[in-house]
Amino acid sequence: MIGQADPYQEIPMSKKVYLQTFGCQMNVYDSERLTSLLLLEGHKITNNPKDADVIVLNTCSVREKAEKRALGRLSEFYRYKQKNPQVMLVVIGCMAQRMGEELVKQMPYLNLVLGPDQIFQLPIYLENNKGYSQVAVCPSREDFDSHKIWEQEILPERKTPYTSFIAISRGCDNFCSYCVVPYVRGPERHRPTDQIIREIQFLTESGCKEVTLIGQNVNSYKFKGKDFADLLEMANDQTTIDWIRFMTSHPKDLPGKLIDKIATLPKICKHIHLPLQAGSDKILEKMNRNYTAGDYLKLVERMKERIGDVSLSTDVIAGFPTETKEDFKKTLDIMKKVKFDSAFMFRYSIRVGTKAASLIDDVPEEEKLERLHVLIKLQKEISKKKNQKLLGKTFQVLVDDKSKRDKNRWKGKTKTNKTVIIEGDRNLLGKIVSVKINGADSFTLFGNLGGVNFDEKICRLQL
Ligand code: SF4
Repeated sequence: MIGQADPYQEIPMSKKVYLQTFGCQMNVYDSERLTSLLLLEGHKITNNPKDADVIVLNTCSVREKAEKRALGRLSEFYRYKQKNPQVMLVVIGCMAQRMGEELVKQMPYLNLVLGPDQIFQLPIYLENNKGYSQVAVCPSREDFDSHKIWEQEILPERKTPYTSFIAISRGCDNFCSYCVVPYVRGPERHRPTDQIIREIQFLTESGCKEVTLIGQNVNSYKFKGKDFADLLEMANDQTTIDWIRFMTSHPKDLPGKLIDKIATLPKICKHIHLPLQAGSDKILEKMNRNYTAGDYLKLVERMKERIGDVSLSTDVIAGFPTETKEDFKKTLDIMKKVKFDSAFMFRYSIRVGTKAASLIDDVPEEEKLERLHVLIKLQKEISKKKNQKLLGKTFQVLVDDKSKRDKNRWKGKTKTNKTVIIEGDRNLLGKIVSVKINGADSFTLFGNLGGVNFDEKICRLQL
């Protein structure tokens, strides 16, 4: 057991905070906004947990593995606290909401546990540090605040100034049977349209070239008579941002009006993340996905026809309860038919509190792993073939960072969400450039600068 903090030791008002984030874009966005708020309140951010007064973990509950990683990290940080009991250990986000009091029972050395709707209260807690085991989470779905979360217009503190996430909604009402999100993030709540447009324009004026509108299901966005297609049109027409991405799209909510807007609005990136999850109607029904494999294929056909060179990515789960080899084969068949550009593939793991948790988890672990390997192998082959077809073509690429492997090269993305590594001897950061593709593997394209700089704003200025 660790010693209690010394009450007479002076605790600095301005704290050094180390913040680690697990999970999805929404968590990244929350962490970026929390970072902004902490900086505004006079705290500092450190990249070294050994150097921190406060260690914060923004956690994910979507898969068991993500929770295990966060718990492992907490045990590591406990060692720092044993050396210095003044260090505050804070858990925020989805695992904090899911486990609440149970978390502090397991780890009584935690100072604070905050659910996703409470995270922006962190600066208040830092000011009034009361010791150990404080828990603030929403007691039930009804307690998630429907509007308050949007009141604080906090701009995210981003790693790169050229791209940004913008949440347009929070929570989810879909209740896919395997998913914990509707319980840990509460009901779907939509952000006011004018606030989103204002944020996009503000970010643009501070150097951002591309925004990604995020939400658990962006397609079901609704605010005072405006739907997601309207929002895309407003973002396209009323802001000067270069590119607009969005994710995630539920296949049950993709009407023709929205497909038309994606096809015709010039700033909208032609990439759609469209989770398939499974190819068997029996499994889709048990997952409560509200579409059949046939519906999904028809939708993909419509999008390919209308949008042309649309790029598609997906999520797939292997080994959902009762999934037979025949069911699994149907998933492979759809993947072969659609030919996704990329996919996130997982083996099923039980999430306590979900509907699927009441089903017998009857696919043996080795079988789940085997199916997962088959999926990954297939998708790698498809992605490689699709990428190799792009050899010799030229694309606009937004350069947002140096390459991680080779500091003399640059990394960027096409409008279709393909990662491109670029040869170049000048600083390309933050520019949209033309790149001719001369290499491709399953995950990455490689290319050289080819042609004029496509940064329209610079072109306009030069004219
Ligand atoms: S749409 Fe389904 S999988 Fe996605 S967050 Fe909602 S419940 Fe979870």
